[in-house]
Amino acid sequence: MKRRDFLKTSAVGLAAPSAVFSGTNYKTNKNNPMLVSTWPFGLIANKAGLEAYQNGGNAMDAAEAVARVPEGDPNELSVGWGGLPDEQGKVTLDACVMDSTGNAGSVAFLQNIKHPVSVARKVMEDTKHVMLVGEGARQFAVSQGFEEMDLLTDKAKKAWEKWKKTRKEMTPHETHDTIAVLAQDENGDLAGACTTSGWAYKLHGRVGDSPIIGAGLYVDNEVGAVGCTGLGEEVIKSTGSFLVVELMRQGYDPTAACEEALKRIIKRHNGNPDFQVAYIALRKDGKVGTACLKWSFEYAVARGEKNKLYKTKGML
Ligand code: ASP
Repeated sequence: MKRRDFLKTSAVGLAAPSAVFSGTNYKTNKNNPMLVSTWPFGLIANKAGLEAYQNGGNAMDAAEAVARVPEGDPNELSVGWGGLPDEQGKVTLDACVMDSTGNAGSVAFLQNIKHPVSVARKVMEDTKHVMLVGEGARQFAVSQGFEEMDLLTDKAKKAWEKWKKTRKEMTPHETHDTIAVLAQDENGDLAGACTTSGWAYKLHGRVGDSPIIGAGLYVDNEVGAVGCTGLGEEVIKSTGSFLVVELMRQGYDPTAACEEALKRIIKRHNGNPDFQVAYIALRKDGKVGTACLKWSFEYAVARGEKNKLYKTKGML
């Protein structure tokens, strides 16, 4: 849609959804395990999820397996080990998971632990809480047997040292790449995971959308799963992933739901945001939708043997 057309549409209000989704009037996608992951690294990472399915894993197992791939890759500058640090040179990680029962776990501002997504899952499964942050999250991880390590690689340190010379403000569009993963297993159950090192050279203590349930990720096993990447502050302010799920519940097609959530951000920025936000949505019937604000956005979809990268063009 051209910008002028978009403004016209938003001025008269949105087209009504084509069908009202009650949560039960879609046929559940069964016997067709799926994965949807953000960015090109999702393509390689999806393979780990397909393997988890082959080994009898459910949607949560598969989503976690996918998220662990970039987390464990020291060359990946935006997730887990090797992620770009904050302005003080510290790598601080955010992650969350949500399963088909509506249970959720999250860690934020976690340091020295390579796999925050697995710590988030432990928070979900082994505590009464949803979210642990900072030093408490680290202590919890250690108590659960997670190994501590220095996550700042030479590559990330060099990039940070170079940045320090200018202290140029970066947006996540310049240094982004959260992995959000949506999974649907052979029973048709949904789960999701999201993990990132966040906004490069951020203020020490900054937490983005990725560990916030409803912002960076939301799963409703009756309707669908949604995750996102991009400028976390804007996603938090619009409760993005929850909004997209609720729009799908109202009958919006997955792509239309992603676009409607983005339109709210566009409106708040007078039709011209200068940053990126991208949503991926997986509806209960297996239909995938995506949208991004600007430029383009790539995501990987795996179904059965097939695992393919797709590109979505920006709305503006
Ligand atoms: N959403 C992430 C954050 O704001 C960054 C990204 O996905 O690019 O921390």
